[in-house]
Amino acid sequence: MLVKFYPNAYISSLADVNPGYFSARGIKGLILDLDNTIIPWRAGDFEPEIVNLIKEYKEAGLKLCVVSNAFNKRVTGLLEPLGIPWVARAGKPRRKPFVKALSILGSTAGETAIIGDQLFTDIFGGNRIGLYTVLVVPISKREFIGTKFVRVLEKIFLHKLAQKGVIEKPR
Ligand SMILES: [Mg+2]
Repeated sequence: MLVKFYPNAYISSLADVNPGYFSARGIKGLILDLDNTIIPWRAGDFEPEIVNLIKEYKEAGLKLCVVSNAFNKRVTGLLEPLGIPWVARAGKPRRKPFVKALSILGSTAGETAIIGDQLFTDIFGGNRIGLYTVLVVPISKREFIGTKFVRVLEKIFLHKLAQKGVIEKPR
């Protein structure tokens, strides 16, 4: 059961992985979480580095889709200009939004990875349907009060995982 919470990799920032990291693992589609993964929580704009990164992934032929629990208005406003499809108000870790993302991406679960900053939504949800899961340290320390509480549990859990040595370190 607890295995479902293990990410395949744990990275300190998105710069720790690149398109080659994913293609080497047979991954064709990439699901991205939004808040605190590719944009600070509540921020209104993407950093230029993120815009470049998205471009780099697209040019490498990887298909991208954002799956976010945030409201539709926020997600649409941010993603439409970037030209990336999205699933908003996803209710992760439910399976449904991930299945929808797979159909948008046109890849199977085994050919798809997720990058997200939350163990109990992004990683657990991704593992439930068999994605390659990458946990990233959140961009910003600012977040929803409920998330702050969950972080305490997450910290304990990650410490245990590190002790067991079960997480793959990228590169
Ligand atoms: Mg997040």
